[in-house]
Amino acid sequence: MTPMGSGGEPDIDGERLLRRLRELSAFGRTAEGGITRPGFSEAGRQADAFLIDQARRANLHAEVDAAGNVLFGRAAIDRTRPALLLGSHLDTVVNGGWLDGAYGVVSALEVVQVLAERHIDLDCDVVAIAFANEEGALFPQAFWGSMVAAGLLGSLPGPPADHEGRPLAPALALAGGDLDALPSAVWPPPSVRGYLELHIEQGPILDAGPERIGIVDAITGRAVLAVDLIGEAAHAGTTPLNARADALLGAAHLVIATRELAAQGLCHVASVGHLQVEPNSANTLAGHARLLVDLRDADAARLTKAEDTVRDQAGSIAARLGLGVRCRRMVRSEPAAMDAGIRRHIAGSAAALGLAARVMSSGAGHDAQIMAGITPTGMIFVPSIGGVSHVPQEDTAPADLLAGARVLLGATLRLLACPDRRNGYRP
Ligand SMILES: [Zn+2]
Repeated sequence: MTPMGSGGEPDIDGERLLRRLRELSAFGRTAEGGITRPGFSEAGRQADAFLIDQARRANLHAEVDAAGNVLFGRAAIDRTRPALLLGSHLDTVVNGGWLDGAYGVVSALEVVQVLAERHIDLDCDVVAIAFANEEGALFPQAFWGSMVAAGLLGSLPGPPADHEGRPLAPALALAGGDLDALPSAVWPPPSVRGYLELHIEQGPILDAGPERIGIVDAITGRAVLAVDLIGEAAHAGTTPLNARADALLGAAHLVIATRELAAQGLCHVASVGHLQVEPNSANTLAGHARLLVDLRDADAARLTKAEDTVRDQAGSIAARLGLGVRCRRMVRSEPAAMDAGIRRHIAGSAAALGLAARVMSSGAGHDAQIMAGITPTGMIFVPSIGGVSHVPQEDTAPADLLAGARVLLGATLRLLACPDRRNGYRP
């Protein structure tokens, strides 16, 4: 192959990239200036249609697969041919920001378009993907599109419905998908050479430092434990301290113990953001308290250990305060390591552009963690101003948006030129 094509070093069209991002942000725009564009909503279909039209005007091929994923390539998608996949998602949370997901998709399309315009010879297809329903804001199955693409059909709920009980099938059909044909949207792992995702950081680390580029080493895993503490509701005025079984007091101890887990370095972060108290009355001791304990770590064994510690702590707090206790795991998603060879190519691409980069892990979930299950995967981050995301204020400086897209293009070219890509791009 000819990695450089004709006419010098290939580059992205920065004006085109920023224009498409701005135009895309009109679909699902809210009064507060945010975006509400859940997967399989009308705004979602408009966003898909806009990018499909942009691609076709550029003489690229665009199609929707059975899962509702939108695929962009130089020619009709052939899943039996070797392909390097670049992608992210177009759906948002309720009143979310304009860049989460959309930035990665528009940049992936830009890379495919630049490769086509420069007539760069490829012995491997490069396909940009807008994965359907990554956030799961309306239809609760988050990572829907990438799970189907990765062949995790057995893990999908059936028949899927949205939060209001409406079935997915008709909404999926409107988006161009087909619930009965999901197997046709699976990428056979042997033909996938790798997956690259460009995304805003959604946290404060890059924004606070000198580096403009983050090279993700791992996407953290997550466990959520529901802990029920069972005491005895009693009169707050007449019940002596030594005769109480106060479930809320137990919950307070467990909230602090959870924070200590992370403070002592036993878990990356550990939080309680949900507390339900019964009867929740000023003059009655709580008979029941339910907490949701959210644990995140990039190491599966540490995450399991943290889960065990929360169970132990809940048990000893309950025993001390005369409470009953029940712990149930509600969520467990495994950490996903990014491919070392792909990380090296991202680093090389950033260095060649004169961009300082740092290695960091992702505290948020991404389609990349699903794709990492079937193919060598890499992720590139750019700064989020103020570290905020999933809110209307979500933003990134234009120079950083362009830098990230250039790193994506450079990394793609390096991966295509790497002789050892069949073995996971090992250095
Ligand atoms: Zn995202």
